[in-house]
Amino acid sequence: MGELTTSIQYLPGVGPKRAALLTRELGVQTIGELIRIYPFRYIDRSRIYKIAELRADMTGVQVCATVLRAEMPSPKRLSVWVGDGSGEMEMVFFSGIKWNVERLRKGARFLFYGKPAEFNGRLNMVHPEIDPAPAEGEQPQGTLTGVYPSTEKLKNGGVTGKVMCRLMASALALALPEVEETLPEYVLRDNGLVPLRYALQNIHFPKDQYVLSKASMRLKFEELFLLQLSLLKQKFITSRAGTGIPLPKVGEPFNACYRALPYELTGAQKRVIHEIRDDLKSGAQMNRLLQGDVGSGKTMVAVLSCLIAIGNGYQACIMAPTEVLARQHYNNISKYLAPTGVRVELLTGSTTQKVRREIHAALEDGSLGILVGTHALLEDNVRFKALALAVIDEQHRFGVDQRAKLWAKGAGGLPPHVLVMTATPIPRTLAMTLYGDLDVSIIDEMPPGRKPVQSMLITPSKRSALYGFMRKEIAAGRQVFVVYPLIFESEKLDLQNLQNGFEDIVRAFPLPDYKVAIVHGQQSAEEKNFNMDAFVAGRANILVSTTVIEVGVDVPNASVMVIESAQRFGLSQLHQLRGRVGRGAEKSYCIFVADYKTSKEARQRLELMCSTEDGFVIAEEDMKMRGPGDLEGTQQSGLPINLNIASLARDGLLLQQARAYALKVLEADPSLQLGCNALLVAELRKGKYDIKDYSKIS
Ligand code: ADP
Ligand code: MG
Repeated sequence: MGELTTSIQYLPGVGPKRAALLTRELGVQTIGELIRIYPFRYIDRSRIYKIAELRADMTGVQVCATVLRAEMPSPKRLSVWVGDGSGEMEMVFFSGIKWNVERLRKGARFLFYGKPAEFNGRLNMVHPEIDPAPAEGEQPQGTLTGVYPSTEKLKNGGVTGKVMCRLMASALALALPEVEETLPEYVLRDNGLVPLRYALQNIHFPKDQYVLSKASMRLKFEELFLLQLSLLKQKFITSRAGTGIPLPKVGEPFNACYRALPYELTGAQKRVIHEIRDDLKSGAQMNRLLQGDVGSGKTMVAVLSCLIAIGNGYQACIMAPTEVLARQHYNNISKYLAPTGVRVELLTGSTTQKVRREIHAALEDGSLGILVGTHALLEDNVRFKALALAVIDEQHRFGVDQRAKLWAKGAGGLPPHVLVMTATPIPRTLAMTLYGDLDVSIIDEMPPGRKPVQSMLITPSKRSALYGFMRKEIAAGRQVFVVYPLIFESEKLDLQNLQNGFEDIVRAFPLPDYKVAIVHGQQSAEEKNFNMDAFVAGRANILVSTTVIEVGVDVPNASVMVIESAQRFGLSQLHQLRGRVGRGAEKSYCIFVADYKTSKEARQRLELMCSTEDGFVIAEEDMKMRGPGDLEGTQQSGLPINLNIASLARDGLLLQQARAYALKVLEADPSLQLGCNALLVAELRKGKYDIKDYSKIS
């Protein structure tokens, strides 16, 4: 008894020293924790391939080969040629070069495991896994061997892959009989899941691919299901009636604005406004995420939502992540509001004291209906008479504390309704998790008349042709964006890079025929606004900038977006940038300039960008290529939960299934009081599935 909570130091071959090492490196102390470290991949050692049999479309394979020679075509690339009688191939290393030169001596035989890839028409393996070769004639074990997460320190401390496997075998032998089922019988049955003990045994030591898939499906489902259960349970609680400010009518300002619209709303805009309207009159607090691609018309939805608040005698605010965007929102919104007589003001870090005082007074006496601004809205002395709705544009740039401040500003002690808008298309699976407790509205239809943007990938050798093209567009009265990435660790060097590009452009586009504006993060707000305004108003032909223009900036007359060192941007970011053009009537272009040294993968990503403009397709691909942790918008905070085995990038279908099932369970038993759900309550209580306030909106 008690094996699960026994320290790992009592496992054969461990002892206090290795136990401490395992704890430090893997965070495990007990045998029960150890068996929850799963292999992250499996080596199919059931067969050794001949080099001549390899193809670039194979996944992991092993070859047994002798080192023939090593070369260093550049200081950063070690190339080791190996042969097995059937053929020769190259093993490539970009790191650990010294160590590999030492161990991969000419004439030595090894087992190389990796993914064959094609390079210059020949096959190679990049960073293969290397093991001692089996003795001549020895047959492979014929099993799937798990590969566990490891570190240099673990390996140096003697905990190699083989040792890990041995430890797991003894840990399982001791502890498995004590492992208790975590999911109710009916959940297993409904979803065709194998029992936990069986799953644990076979995730570590599968006899074949079939049992491995059963084991991994059970463990993944459990994680995704409990996570969704935890999120949705929260939502069941916060969405109870009486927790929000009731806004029963649509009201006259809404109707006045609607009647004066210069265009017909798209079907998607109408649907979303209905969804919001239903929330607002429900008496429960709205927590809604509005997703819509760049240019899909979210601003109008935000304005009409604010007008519902005004029509019911309340106020609204709209927060944007940067001053540039806040000002642009303010300008657009003022136009839309003209027919309604509703007063709107702008509050940012550069608002003067005098104007500030006026705004504060008008907010408090209720004569100011809508306040647009940056996080300056959150300051303590910004007090509303009756705030009922907060619209947040691109919420991921706001911290949790900042959001809490906003919630405290609601009318009558109730939290304001919240509409979060994002133009970063988040893959559905990720949205379901990050925003599991939010309702999601999607504008999946573009306003009519938006022309596709023609995208091209070029190398810097085509720059003079590019400049020629830019001159032609400018001569036709159009404007051009040129964007530089943040390349260096230091802001100083980034600025240098941008500055060089700027000077290059100014030389190619000299005064008085051309005017070039520049915007970057190191400028004062005043300087930035001056330059932005020059471009927005059409006084400058070219805007050179870092990614400050990424979100939201609207210049319909701009027809060309040039993205320098495009390989350095994430796909979602490129998508955002491209969305800055194609907003006017004329044909628009996006030109990705990729450096000569761009890798094949990076080039493929850019080619994908050239082949589609669908933000969701791009976001899905981006997530697959980079993993959800690196996804735009989640970088700063990282993912708020740690999943052991399920992947938000790869297990989308299972996630949907788990979510639908979690909903079913909650509908039958909203507070999980029934005896059959006792196991679930116990699992949730352990806290693993509590989202670390990242997406907690209420
Ligand atoms: P988003 O914020 O979603 O990127 P915007 O709200 O800025 O998009 O809208 C992009 C452009 O489309 C704006 O110039 C806006 O006036 C216009 N627009 C919005 N809705 C419609 C519509 N239903 N029909 C035509 N044009 C629209
Ligand atoms: Mg916008």
